[in-house]
Amino acid sequence: MQSAYSSKELAINGGPKTVNKHFQWPVFSNAEVNAVAAVVESGKWGNPDCGDEVLKFENEFAAFCGSNYAVTCVNGSVSLRLALMACGVKAGDEVIVPPYTFITTATSVIECNCVPVFADIDPETYNISPAAIEAAITPRTKAIIAVHFGGLACDMDAIMNIAHRHNLKVIEDAAHAHGAEYKGKKLGTIGDAGSFSFQSSKNLTSGEGGMVITDNDELFAMMHSLRNVGRMAGGQWYDHYNPGCNYRITQMQAVLLSQQLKRLDEQTRKRNENGLYLTTLLDEVDGISPLKRGAEITLHSYHIYIFKYDASRFGNLPKDQFAEMLAAEGVPCFKGYPHPLYKQPLFRNKNFMCYAIPETADYSQVYCPAAEQACTTDAVWILQHAMLGDKQDMEAFAQAILKIQRLVC
Ligand SMILES: *Cc1c(COP(=O)(O)O)cnc(C)c1O
Repeated sequence: MQSAYSSKELAINGGPKTVNKHFQWPVFSNAEVNAVAAVVESGKWGNPDCGDEVLKFENEFAAFCGSNYAVTCVNGSVSLRLALMACGVKAGDEVIVPPYTFITTATSVIECNCVPVFADIDPETYNISPAAIEAAITPRTKAIIAVHFGGLACDMDAIMNIAHRHNLKVIEDAAHAHGAEYKGKKLGTIGDAGSFSFQSSKNLTSGEGGMVITDNDELFAMMHSLRNVGRMAGGQWYDHYNPGCNYRITQMQAVLLSQQLKRLDEQTRKRNENGLYLTTLLDEVDGISPLKRGAEITLHSYHIYIFKYDASRFGNLPKDQFAEMLAAEGVPCFKGYPHPLYKQPLFRNKNFMCYAIPETADYSQVYCPAAEQACTTDAVWILQHAMLGDKQDMEAFAQAILKIQRLVC
């Protein structure tokens, strides 16, 4: 069996690569360079005491999403915490999260002294399953964090219905989903608050940064205060009303984001179009199954294009090795998360440090089969910058998979 994987035709063994293209990220021009240079030259670098570029970008992003308010902050983890705190969670409350996501979806909950409760993903979409949410609700449940994984919208009708019946807050973790839509509505505008990350890998970036949007006046006022060391609008500089911190971004980040935002819609539509096309190609490959995408997904941002891999159709080549071979063929891809979040040492060792997590919180028995299967055997990720390629690139990605299949079987 091992010998089949040593074909000299495979790029990983020194053979010719299938895809010979560098996929640029981030995409920028002199517009970005000049905008940042102008702020640097102005000497008005900070926020909010000088310059108004941060407020300008917040207004632009809110208008782009169709939300009333936007609050920038240092990253897409703090933005989750601002939203949770503003929602009024108390120590010991439970917040339902998926286990197949970036760690801070869950650690933002711990940082509010609340207990993350894991609800499994739907194996067809890799988004949190409404049935699993319903099953995880207890009298202590206060909120749900719905992650639009890879840029594919969660089943928001079902989630909002559950939330209304049980009086729960819904925070959308849209760190992968800038500009993506559910039934024509921008993601982040459906729940009580929508959280975004502008970290380097994300579809809208200033290197680091975050944002939370809302239509709710009180949530906005509180998140704004928490972001600015507990100050309140109209208060004195050294009057502090809430236990916030300095989570402000700089004017340099804001102008960079304003320029990048101008590119976002076109980039999102390009990825969406490429994703649909790649799915038609991969649907034809035995052993490769793209995730399900229903008619309610009016725009998918494909921060990650995910397909399921069936090793039995690839000479039992383990997924991790397949992903390495595919990357060597020139397809920007990755094997994804090694295990569901509840198996991270943090949860296994209950290393909650100063946070007031009740002793009863125990993750040793948690088992979410769909998330386990995604991590260990099924999920392969193609990264967003590769989805900005052209039609021929999508064809080359499919060719690279077929090449590996031909050589390892
Ligand atoms: C990246 C990411 C975050 C955190 O964003 P940072 O800006 O890196 O703090 C939160 N949730 C998800 C799903 C992410 O992918």
